[in-house]
Amino acid sequence: VNKVGVHALVWTAGWTERDCRHAIESTRSAGYDLIEIPLLDPGAVDPELTARVLAEYEMEAACSLGLRFDADISSPDADVHARGRKLLHDALAVSRDLGARYLGGALYSALGKYLEAATPAGRANCVAGLAELSEAAAAAGITLGLEPVNRYESNLVNTAADAVALIKDIGSSNIVVHLDTYHMNIEEADLSSAVEAASDYLGYVHVGENHRGYLGSGSIDFQTFFRALHAARYEGIITFEAFSSAVVSETFAAALGLWRRTWEDSFDLASRALSFIDAQVSLAALTAGAEL
Ligand code: MN
Repeated sequence: VNKVGVHALVWTAGWTERDCRHAIESTRSAGYDLIEIPLLDPGAVDPELTARVLAEYEMEAACSLGLRFDADISSPDADVHARGRKLLHDALAVSRDLGARYLGGALYSALGKYLEAATPAGRANCVAGLAELSEAAAAAGITLGLEPVNRYESNLVNTAADAVALIKDIGSSNIVVHLDTYHMNIEEADLSSAVEAASDYLGYVHVGENHRGYLGSGSIDFQTFFRALHAARYEGIITFEAFSSAVVSETFAAALGLWRRTWEDSFDLASRALSFIDAQVSLAALTAGAEL
């Protein structure tokens, strides 16, 4: 049975004690198993406070981030690369201290539009940085996830095949592929062959619509996607991701191009998304003839 999570940006863009409590309490009352906490700025998240509130509501957390152009392990520039490593290590420490067992996202490059192709030297820097990070993650009991993102958000890992190739080059056993339907919709030939390509390494999933709004209100073929997850025997976490200018984070808005108010009511959005995901998981199993 898949655990189902929701991204914290559905509830709040900040992480004061009030934000943290609101996000975790809402995640719990909407019926989710887990909250995904973004660590674009690891210093903005107090891990002790977060761990305490998670325990209070008996909730689990996963963490995620994308790097910055001035702190990017895929840069051939030694200083930029070093700042990228530091950002990743800071995020890993916060993830560990708040009790997460997963840290995923665009851990391999900046989250934003590159104007040039990745270079072999930059990719080699990325491999070295992630190999080192994965050792520290293993010591902390944390699995790392590489999330392929679309061409406007990275020049290094755009497809499931790119992520698998990078993981093979790194050679660590605690790094998984993290698929996201929003990005797959832009870059993959089709949803099911991408899931198949990732299946040996698949460890985390984001579901989001093509416009980042209400699940099922856009053009993504979720039926095909969930059938593919079922066929791949995927039993990991499935996290709902949606962004709207109704919940504003300037960092996210700039990196992901979040200019539209695609939804207003976080609780309604999250409740409907959980029902949608549950229905799709059940339907995929039913269609495959499995016992329910
Ligand atoms: Mn995602």
